[in-house]
Amino acid sequence: MRVAWILAAALAYGQDVSGVRMRAHVKFLASDLLEGRGPGTRGGALAEEYIAAQMALAGLKPAIRGSFFQAVPLVGVETLPEVKLGAGDSELRWLEDFAGYTLRQQAQVEFSGDVLFVGYGISAPEYAWDDWAGVNAAGKVCLMFANEPSRGNPEFFEGEALTYYGRWTYKFEQAARKGCVAAMLIHTSDTAGYGWDVVRNSWGREDAQNKLKPSDKALAWGGWLTLEAADRALARDGKNAAELLAAAQRRGFRAMPLRLKMSGTIPSKLREFSARNVVGMVEGREPARSQEAVVFTAHADHLGIDATAKGDGIFNGAVDNATGIAVLLEMARAWAKLEPGAARSAVFVATAAEEAGLRGAEAYAAAPPIPLAKTALNLNFDSYYPLGRTRDVVLDRAERTTIWAHVQKAVERYGMTVKPDPRPQAGGFFRSDHFVFAKAGVAAFSVRAGADFLGADADRRGAALREYGARSYHQPSDEYREDWDFAGMEDIARIGIEIGLIAANNPPFTAWVKPEPKKTLR
Ligand SMILES: [Zn+2]
Repeated sequence: MRVAWILAAALAYGQDVSGVRMRAHVKFLASDLLEGRGPGTRGGALAEEYIAAQMALAGLKPAIRGSFFQAVPLVGVETLPEVKLGAGDSELRWLEDFAGYTLRQQAQVEFSGDVLFVGYGISAPEYAWDDWAGVNAAGKVCLMFANEPSRGNPEFFEGEALTYYGRWTYKFEQAARKGCVAAMLIHTSDTAGYGWDVVRNSWGREDAQNKLKPSDKALAWGGWLTLEAADRALARDGKNAAELLAAAQRRGFRAMPLRLKMSGTIPSKLREFSARNVVGMVEGREPARSQEAVVFTAHADHLGIDATAKGDGIFNGAVDNATGIAVLLEMARAWAKLEPGAARSAVFVATAAEEAGLRGAEAYAAAPPIPLAKTALNLNFDSYYPLGRTRDVVLDRAERTTIWAHVQKAVERYGMTVKPDPRPQAGGFFRSDHFVFAKAGVAAFSVRAGADFLGADADRRGAALREYGARSYHQPSDEYREDWDFAGMEDIARIGIEIGLIAANNPPFTAWVKPEPKKTLR
């Protein structure tokens, strides 16, 4: 019985997963000496070297033409405050009225064009929605809102749960595909999900972009306008943002050319640098299927040092994501010892520059050692607060893949239950490395810790978890603690191996099951 055999192997080798070793990895990777593991920094490079050494010790083979390292060339783009953006004959104020950057990676960029309002900027045939229908957007300044039309209404898209169409990253990708010269999002706290201060903070500084190839097309400008600035500009055409937003909710919405021109002169400070994915491999047992893979990912980078931040300014990233790397290394170690090995190959990737926008995962997807079309599954591991064991594990949107039923059973064999994403409305699924794989059609999801703690002081640990989210997430206080309990992370690693083995030994699963097309009302 093949299934029984798989189970026995996983359980046997699952015993070999060690919280003691995971503690050692986390303690080292989160130490002040690694200076927050910023991409392209000395601390980041040291983390990469450590991970490569650990992969070699675990018995993995280098997966990138004889090397454990895959270069991730990046370009830091910082808009200089002299930037000029005009709407009609009035000038807008940097960070007061607008924020953003060029995506062309050039020190001086200029653009001008007629403004085209494209609603939410979405083309989604499976939801019978096309904001771009019947317009030629080439050379236009495309104005739109973040999010989705009539969000929360189950008749539209997924109701409460955010789809990728709602993310601003999608809007920019789509605007570039449609030939817009610039993409401009009108900010409202409601559609963005956060206030202008968040836009101002994260868009007023350097953006690390994957280095363009000469053939790549890119927007001259991608950014945000405040609601007030948008209203002032729209008033020239006798319109306002509220009425545009109302129009964009309705089925049958059509893109609206506006009697308004916008132009920009964008000086940027550019900084070329490079980080590295660390990629190791255990070859599959069966010659044919060894050319196919299961890919495990966890990001190695964090936010580096910011001397102006609270405390010592070192973003140690103990939970985020030294813990995920510890799980990855422990799974790799156990996988390399499987006897007999799995049919397909397993690729273990410590990704670079995740915090900068999934840049390392994108670099991997652009040049994988085994093609994505031959990748059976991607499992991603990000951020575990080591507070002991839980009864549950969260596999967000795994229910969209055909491996779902197998996965549920596998987790139940460990006496645990699978929970879906507790906050699908927040769209966290689109902000972790697995999403790069999902977007390319690979079955992919993160294995995330639950919050239903086992043991006597479960309430205290639940409170500590919430405290971490409120106070230490992406702060210098995300530091290693000696009192941590790594037993829950052992469960995560065992479940990761178990799910990985199902994918490595069975016919391929299908990814990212798209919903049935909704009936067309327009
Ligand atoms: Zn993370």
